Amino acid sequence: NTILLCRSVTRVQKQRTINHVGSLFQGSARSNSAVALKDPASNGLCNVESSGEKGVGVYAGASIEKFTTILKSKAVSSSSEKDKYSVQVSWDKHVQMDSPARLINHSCEANVGVRDNELGAYDFVALKDIDAGEELVWDYGSVEFDATEIKQCLCGSPSCRGGHINFEDSHESIRKQYGNFYAKYLHDWTHEEGTSASKE
Ligand SMILES: [Zn+2]
Repeated sequence: NTILLCRSVTRVQKQRTINHVGSLFQGSARSNSAVALKDPASNGLCNVESSGEKGVGVYAGASIEKFTTILKSKAVSSSSEKDKYSVQVSWDKHVQMDSPARLINHSCEANVGVRDNELGAYDFVALKDIDAGEELVWDYGSVEFDATEIKQCLCGSPSCRGGHINFEDSHESIRKQYGNFYAKYLHDWTHEEGTSASKE
């Protein structure tokens, strides 16, 4: 797979608080007045944009082939406690990702999956061919075991899981949807679950 890096967009880092409510507007039309906050030095594979009503999101800056690694996020800090902006990477570790990964919104029908990487966070990989201009969305339930900040998802996708954006409640559908593209510690857990289930 070609690895095409999407550069960090530090300009919009201060707007990250908008990101976690962005999913409320998932599926709404992109405003014509969307303001691209693209890093001029980026290769253009993804752009951070703000479209007013919808808040900040990350969009494909070019057409992207299925299984392309779109960006590699890096853990910039970590804690044993989760918080609003952390992502879970193991049973007792929650990290803050750098931008623009941290600005990618949630959807229960993600077009981008995650794979553990050597930077303490996740690679974001295209799960399908993605058109230029399409919003990149990933499923927070593919890394968070038991809870996320989303109490009621309004992503609008036909398979929206509502108040169950976590792996524990939905692991069967998450595994079916995303194949291998979910957190490694959860792979290990489902493997153990499968083993114990088959013993029954
Ligand atoms: Zn949803």
